[in-house]
Parts: sequence; C-alpha cells; structure tokens
Amino acid sequence: MLVLVLSAPSGCGKTTILTRVMRDLPGLVFSVSHTTRQPRPGEIDGVHYHFVGAEVFAAIRNRQPTGFLEWAEVHGNMYGTSVDEVERHRRAGCDVILDIDVQGAAQVRQRIKPVTIFIAPPSLAELERRLRGRETESEATIALRLNNARKELACAGAYDYLIVNDQVDQAAASLRGIIVAERARQRRMPDGRPAQWSA
Ligand code: ADP
Ligand code: 5GP
Repeated sequence: MLVLVLSAPSGCGKTTILTRVMRDLPGLVFSVSHTTRQPRPGEIDGVHYHFVGAEVFAAIRNRQPTGFLEWAEVHGNMYGTSVDEVERHRRAGCDVILDIDVQGAAQVRQRIKPVTIFIAPPSLAELERRLRGRETESEATIALRLNNARKELACAGAYDYLIVNDQVDQAAASLRGIIVAERARQRRMPDGRPAQWSA
C-alpha cells in the first residue's frame, strides 16, 4: 500500500485539492495527525486533527520508535503522525495520505519508502492573497506563515513530484494522475505479477 506524503506552504490550497481527489478516488484515507495547536472554527477533534495538550504529545513522542512515525514543530505548535494511525489504515488495505511539513517528510523518507508530492502556489503574492481570503489567521500568523513558505519552497527539490496550484481543477487532476500512476507502478509482486492475482 502507498504512503503518500503531501507538503505545501500553509494556505496554498492543499486541503481544497485533497478534498476533491479523495472524493473521486476510492481507497484513499487521510492520516489524522496529533497537534498541540488550538482548533480553528469548524475543525473537529479526531477528524481534522487529534487536538492534544503538550503533555500528551510529549508522552507519545517519548514512546519511540512506536510513538510517532514523524513529528515536528511548525509555526510554533507541535505536530506528529502516530505509527498506529498509519499502520491501522495500511492493515485495512488503504493508501494513506500524510499532510505534513518538510521536516516531517524528511523523517518519513528515512523510515519508509513514501511517494512524496510538493504543492506550490503560483507565487508568494498569490499565497498571501489566499491566506488573507481564508480569514482564519491573524496578521502575525500570516507573516509567520509567509516567512515559513519561503523556507519550505526551498525544499521542493527533495520531493518526487511538484504540483503548482494555479487552477484547482488542473492541480487536482495532476494529483489524481500521480496516485493512479503510482498504484500501477507499485501494486505488484516482487516478480512483477499483479498483487491480487490468485491463479
Ligand atoms: P491549505 O490547506 O493549503 O492551507 P486551503 O485549501 O485552505 O489551503 O486554501 C486556502 C484558500 O485558498 C482557501 O480560501 C481556498 O478556497 C483558496 N484556494 C485554494 N486553491 C485555490 C486556487 N487554485 N485558486 C484560488 N484560490 C484557491
Ligand atoms: P495547519 O496548522 O495549517 O493545519 O498546518 C500547519 C502545517 O503543519 C502544515 O504545513 C501541515 O502540513 C503541517 N502538519 C500537519 N500535520 C502534521 C504532522 O503530523 N507532522 C508534521 N511534520 N507536519 C504536520
């Protein structure tokens, strides 16, 4: 089963694109991360994130290597993907999507063989416009996220694929195409026969 790592500067449109692709392609599940960040209006515990306090986060982090597959501090809050979360979905036969930052992506690359995809905005000016349009961020948070975006964009070269989110339809079609192609490439036995073949 595939582990798909998606990274993008915040506000770039990753959630918008992912929502479309998950609606269209069966067999994909979203890995729900743990975070110490406060929920935004409309965010549901256990659906968008597992919202936890610093103590709970530290307890899972200290349970290595079975606690977090990866974890990082992003924009002043802690975020992590639990090993349990990914393994549960893999056992169920699903391809798992990890929406994580560039630091987390680097850690996952060292532990397993993920397919990594970076989503970039058409420009930093457009990214700023989208962050403001979302109306969920304060001025200070917008400045912090734009500054981080510059650093994150410098890591795009380490990813297998790059998608520029100019038009949502095209970006979603690119992501669908990548997943369909990776499924065709990887879902087979070591000798090349179909993985599900019973003959
Ligand atoms: P992310 O999940 O990357 O933080 P969102 O999906 O929340 O970003 O998108 C941020 C804002 O930008 C939202 O208001 C969304 O509607 C808008 N947006 C997303 N993709 C595009 C696009 N291709 N063109 C214009 N606006 C977009
Ligand atoms: P947001 O607070 O806007 O939901 O997410 C902020 C950033 O944290 C995004 O870049 C997102 O990809 C990243 N992020 C979310 N969950 C995780 C996680 O489990 N691990 C890591 N490393 N980053 C995460």
